Amino acid sequence: MPEPRIVVGPEGIAAGVRALAAGGIIAFPTETVYGLGADAFNADAVARVFALKGRPSNNPLIVHVSGPEMARRVVADWPEPAQRLADAFWPGPLTLVLPKAPDLPDAVTASGPTVGVRCPDHPMALALIEAAATPIVGPSANPSGCLSPTTAEHVADAFPDADLPILDGGACRAGIESTVLDLTRQPARVLRPGVIGHEAIAAVLGGPVDSSEAEPAGQPADSPAASPGLLGPHYQPRTPVRLVQDARTDGIGPDEALLAWSLQSHPQGGVLIRMPADLAGFAAALYAKLHEADRLKAARIVIERPGPGADTASEAIRGAILERLSRAAGG
Ligand code: AMP
Ligand code: MG
Repeated sequence: MPEPRIVVGPEGIAAGVRALAAGGIIAFPTETVYGLGADAFNADAVARVFALKGRPSNNPLIVHVSGPEMARRVVADWPEPAQRLADAFWPGPLTLVLPKAPDLPDAVTASGPTVGVRCPDHPMALALIEAAATPIVGPSANPSGCLSPTTAEHVADAFPDADLPILDGGACRAGIESTVLDLTRQPARVLRPGVIGHEAIAAVLGGPVDSSEAEPAGQPADSPAASPGLLGPHYQPRTPVRLVQDARTDGIGPDEALLAWSLQSHPQGGVLIRMPADLAGFAAALYAKLHEADRLKAARIVIERPGPGADTASEAIRGAILERLSRAAGG
């Protein structure tokens, strides 16, 4: 039976380039989470990514590029605000949504007129894209709707029967997915919150940024989805999740695994997984700790919401964490 193969270093990159050139898929590390890479200009390879993930065909993929020059190959137009944001935040966890290039396969964008593009801040991802000399799609390397992977082992566990080279670049630094910013709207609109907050984006753009849709439960249920993948349950472990405000006062059962930052031990003698109290650390650790909790097969995973941040940058990270938590708990 085929199985995932963890590959490293220059040989790993060479294996990745061969797989991409042959229309195959490779898992690769980024600073956010691990992605499933395929040549964005090969429609069959892109279709294989949707099939492997079980991803609904109406949920577009983000294209990963080595920088603005390569980004111009996948967009119809590269406006000045995009260049300014790329100068400020690339390589980094900011995805820009722009009108797509006519020759980019429709499968990438779920037949929509726009494409999400970003330059990942990870040396192996950049080396892979540069050596392959092509933009690569990179949805998170997990079955659709499940917990995102932040280590090569998470990817191998998620796809035990896939013939999949996994480029091992260690644990992901940011730990949650990129901020997605729609630049086709005026003002620009945050579709998915991430560690780069709307204030930081507005400061670079020198104008307002609409972040209403990215607030947890911000979008009314009957308004049309700007981005179908960004609604409803997602990021879900197999174990049911519930959220609490304060693990010291909210009753926790002995059979519930607890992820908390304010306690040293589980109040009922169950398993406590300690979370970092600082927000960047919380975000970086979140998926790995959820994978760990999921393996315990507890009755439930209880997550204590992170406390307020000290400044706007950490408040932005908290908003992104809360969005992931509320969807992990069922949306
Ligand atoms: P993932 O790669 O699994 O982290 O998901 C990427 C998310 O970015 C998807 O859920 C999409 O909803 C969103 N996205 C990608 N491309 C576009 C686009 N062209 N327009 C709006 N949202 C997008
Ligand atoms: Mg995902």
